[in-house]
Amino acid sequence: MRPFSYQRATDASAAVQALAAADNTPLTDRAIQPLAGGTTLIDLMKLDVMRPSTVIDINPLASAWSTIGLEDGNLRLGALARMSDVADNPDIQRNYPVVADALRLAASQQLRNMATLGGNVLQRTRCIYFRDVSFGNCNKRDPGSGCAALEGINRMHAVLGTSEQCIATYPGDFAQALIALDATVEIVGRPGGRRIPFSELHKPPGNSPQIETTLAAGELISGFTIAGRWPRSVYLKARDRQSYEFALASAAVALDVQNGLVRDARVALGGVATVPWHAREAEALIKGQKFGDGLAQRVAEAAFADARGNKHNAFKIELGKRVVARALHQAAAMEV
Ligand code: FAD
Ligand code: SF4
Repeated sequence: MRPFSYQRATDASAAVQALAAADNTPLTDRAIQPLAGGTTLIDLMKLDVMRPSTVIDINPLASAWSTIGLEDGNLRLGALARMSDVADNPDIQRNYPVVADALRLAASQQLRNMATLGGNVLQRTRCIYFRDVSFGNCNKRDPGSGCAALEGINRMHAVLGTSEQCIATYPGDFAQALIALDATVEIVGRPGGRRIPFSELHKPPGNSPQIETTLAAGELISGFTIAGRWPRSVYLKARDRQSYEFALASAAVALDVQNGLVRDARVALGGVATVPWHAREAEALIKGQKFGDGLAQRVAEAAFADARGNKHNAFKIELGKRVVARALHQAAAMEV
């Protein structure tokens, strides 16, 4: 690993000020990086993929930024809350099972004890060509160098939201739950703070896959809010093995069913897209309908209508449809 200097943030504004001194290159290339649990950042520094000269430890902000709070029917989660604390919280399990399960099914217990929600949503792709600097062709790591995955091994790569520049999958699980529940992300920076829909945080690769988020230099995520409660919600994850593995295809689904009719429905996809994916057109098919087999299948087909497979990952399209249909059935059958 390259030498770097380590600083501990004393408070949020000092952290923001120190981070704002970074150049305005894309977040992930900046010379000054915030450190939360470190399970992505330190990993990538060891691999020489990320090369900050300064790391600012934001864990001293945890007393203010690790809330797990249900108030007036809304949920607020602090960015420094640990994945395991949120997954194990009985209120979250009861009112937001999609959130608890997305976190519980991610990584390993040890990682979940260390990793934070803010760091989780900002984790980077597991594309093997991105993570191994001996490969020269990676537009995300080195803009303009090409994409080794297009003609290489692309079994884990995306089938939705891809571009000719990059087909890397967004690897996380929790972000899909946030997308499905229309969460808001709270951002602190200079001047003051801002709140944006979580769906506006990540950027699809387009012509600049190195720009992964809309965060500016000096901005930190302080928390997430979710309006309402979603007890009828499910996170279903298909993967090569049942633990400690990233999704091949996953679905975060939430339903509001009244008198046998679906009043509201949310569907987000993971493991198959370049960003946490909101299947809006598919969702629209369910609203106001009576749930049944045919409907689940139509929704699943619609969710993958624009999917495009590559040499090794076309199987994800059929797999993804089955995951969506099964998640919908599970949610519809829940006793709430
Ligand atoms: P850090 O490593 O500290 O930070 C990650 C990035 O976010 C860094 O660039 C950092 O600068 C930035 N950052 C951190 N906090 C903030 C903030 N508040 N504001 C702005 N920027 C910030 N994840 C899954 O979802 N599903 C899985 O199945 C899964 N499997 C895994 C398996 C392994 C072997 C490993 C190593 C990881 C796996 N992960 C998985 C990823 C893991 O969940 C993430 O590494 C973790 O959630 C990152 O959180 P962190 O707090 O450690 O982030
Ligand atoms: Fe790099 Fe993206 Fe291609 Fe992977 S898919 S090699 S991250 S450009």
